[in-house]
Amino acid sequence: MKFGGTSIGTAPSMKRAMDIVAEKQKKNPPVVVLSACSGITNKLIRIAEASGESRLDEAMELSGEVRDHHRSLVDALIQDETRRSSVLEKVESYIGELEMLIKGVDIVGELTARSYDTFCSFGELLSTTIFSEAMQDAGHEAVWQDIREVMITDDNFSTARPLEELCESNVKTAIKSQLEAGKTVVTQGFIGSTKDGKTTTFGRGGSDFTAALLGAWLPSDEIQIWTDVDGVMTCDPRIVPDAKSIRVMTFTEAAELSYLGAKVLHPDTIAPAVKKNIPVYVLNSLHPEAKGTVITNDPAILEGMSYGGLVKSIAAKKGQCIINFRSNRMLGRHGFMADLFDVFARTGVSVEMISTSEVSVSLTVGESASLEELLIELKRKGDVEIEPSVATISVVGDNLRTAKGVAGRIFSAMKDVNIRMISQGASEINVGFVVEEKDVPKALQNLHREFFSGSETSRIFERPAGKG
Ligand code: ADP
Ligand code: ASP
Ligand code: MG
Repeated sequence: MKFGGTSIGTAPSMKRAMDIVAEKQKKNPPVVVLSACSGITNKLIRIAEASGESRLDEAMELSGEVRDHHRSLVDALIQDETRRSSVLEKVESYIGELEMLIKGVDIVGELTARSYDTFCSFGELLSTTIFSEAMQDAGHEAVWQDIREVMITDDNFSTARPLEELCESNVKTAIKSQLEAGKTVVTQGFIGSTKDGKTTTFGRGGSDFTAALLGAWLPSDEIQIWTDVDGVMTCDPRIVPDAKSIRVMTFTEAAELSYLGAKVLHPDTIAPAVKKNIPVYVLNSLHPEAKGTVITNDPAILEGMSYGGLVKSIAAKKGQCIINFRSNRMLGRHGFMADLFDVFARTGVSVEMISTSEVSVSLTVGESASLEELLIELKRKGDVEIEPSVATISVVGDNLRTAKGVAGRIFSAMKDVNIRMISQGASEINVGFVVEEKDVPKALQNLHREFFSGSETSRIFERPAGKG
């Protein structure tokens, strides 16, 4: 059971999450994977940056805010006085380590990838410490596990990946034995450790991935991702308030959707679940009674839950940049594309969407990628033009494989939006195009109206709980 930051960010929400876990524990003790409290990872990143730029006062002030937030959670959630003061000491000890790191980085005057990950890890260490102690305080059998003893990763700081075989055997010794003894195991998402004990992270939003990995290694019967919306929805509800909950979707649809920008799941979450064929439930900690979404390939579940619909969901990915490349030398020449992509490989820039003609190629790349070297090399081969601040919009659904007329419906819904690039066909289950970032809300709202306002959709999608 993984709880995201908003599901444990305040005392009442942490209490709600504890109740959900306690209910589950009555039948079977779960593994609980927690993110940092909402806003804390962002704050830790600001602390890391301030320390690296010798803004010591600012870093220390922010660290004081992190301390206050967690102290107030302890005060609200732990009744027993002895326990409360021992947990406050633990909080103090983490903040002490954080402040030592701040001062160390300030003195050296440089923030390395290694120390960046250590800064980020305090959020999860603090949230899990308080949660497991609060569970015990309320009379539940819970143990805290430092996931860094289990989740051994490579040393790609901030984008680390687990050494699977080693981790799988660690899970059996460290976690399975506790579950078998009837205890709920509370542990951190997002973080891990290299073989020689350096703290690493999976990248933003990585707690979903941790939960999926642990679920697959145990293996468990199901993986639950508890968040602040009713499961995976037909669109981001922050942009399209009419978005509906998707009852059931396939692994491929969910994976595609997360790669294409739907923030509700970390893009790597689905792979471990597919490998062991474990259903993933996306549930709302604010409305635990709502059905949420089940992600599975099991035909019995898919059919039983009215799997269907033409389009399943629409995603947007902002922060992209189009590179338009043009060279007459491309015409009729073999090997040109290989040369071109070699430039991307050598400069380490990953391409997201692509569209070509005889003499030109348009591609999108993430805006944060360091493009300088890439552009110098590309300019040696042809004319290059850059369009920053664009977003990819993707319409996703398994049934797009066989449907006719979808592209027509998509582009007529986009009549009043300036489309900068189109790519169709690479994945049979999505149609994608690029718009300026400022047009994202209009594009999503138009498409949502086109595909989700018909009466047929009420059989497949649900109005979220709390919306009547
Ligand atoms: P958590 O802290 O639980 O990991 P996130 O903020 O990472 O939560 O993800 C949940 C958010 O993802 C939602 O609040 C919603 O705004 C956003 N989101 C984007 N696309 C979708 C979608 N298709 N379905 C549901 N939520 C989405
Ligand atoms: N706390 C981390 C983040 O904010 C990981 C997560 O929430 O999944 O990115
Ligand atoms: Mg998340």
